[in-house]
Amino acid sequence: MKEIVIATKNAGKVREFAALFAKRGVEVKSLLDFPDAPDVAETGSTFADNAVLKAEAASRRLKRPVIADDSGLVVDALGGRPGVHSARYAGEDKNDARNIAKLLRELDGVPMEQRTARFHCALAVAIPGRPTAVVEATCDGYIAEAPRGEGGFGYDPVFYLPERGKTMAELAPEEKNQISHRAKALTKLDEQWEEIVGGKGRTE
Ligand code: IMP
Repeated sequence: MKEIVIATKNAGKVREFAALFAKRGVEVKSLLDFPDAPDVAETGSTFADNAVLKAEAASRRLKRPVIADDSGLVVDALGGRPGVHSARYAGEDKNDARNIAKLLRELDGVPMEQRTARFHCALAVAIPGRPTAVVEATCDGYIAEAPRGEGGFGYDPVFYLPERGKTMAELAPEEKNQISHRAKALTKLDEQWEEIVGGKGRTE
């Protein structure tokens, strides 16, 4: 394989994949290079379903290998919400501050030991003529009672990591990149790449 397309327009995500594939001599492109790729509705009920939907739609259209990701926050006390609805939890406009405010409101009065949560990341690899493969990883923590820290994005200011005594938004970017759900999923992808390219299909 000479080239892979990452189904995102987020330059930060593209860089993470580029680092991984550079050592394999695979060139990484993104939807910024293919503006006519389809806009896919994320209608799946799991992160894996949505990653597969996005990867397969783009791979069919572009007729080349595509990797898509889907991620979000799973909160136990809320029966798994916001889950696949993480980005638009408080409304259509994808507003991080409003999403956090809604989450904290819903967890009002829930004691710390019951505020367990995890970030989840699914990566799907769709290669024409091969079964689509999926790798998934999580990062465990607790939902803090108030936001703290300026780094990261999304729910990072309320995602508390007890072993570090910090929220995800208080970590340096390098630290987050060692422990995050996305970093762990990328490591799995790296470890399983030969199998995936060989066409073994869905893996967990
Ligand atoms: P996406 O898969 O990148 O679109 O992420 C979906 C949503 O999940 C984001 O808009 C965030 O609300 C949340 N999310 C995913 N990954 C992270 C993370 O590393 N930190 C904080 N929030 C995240």
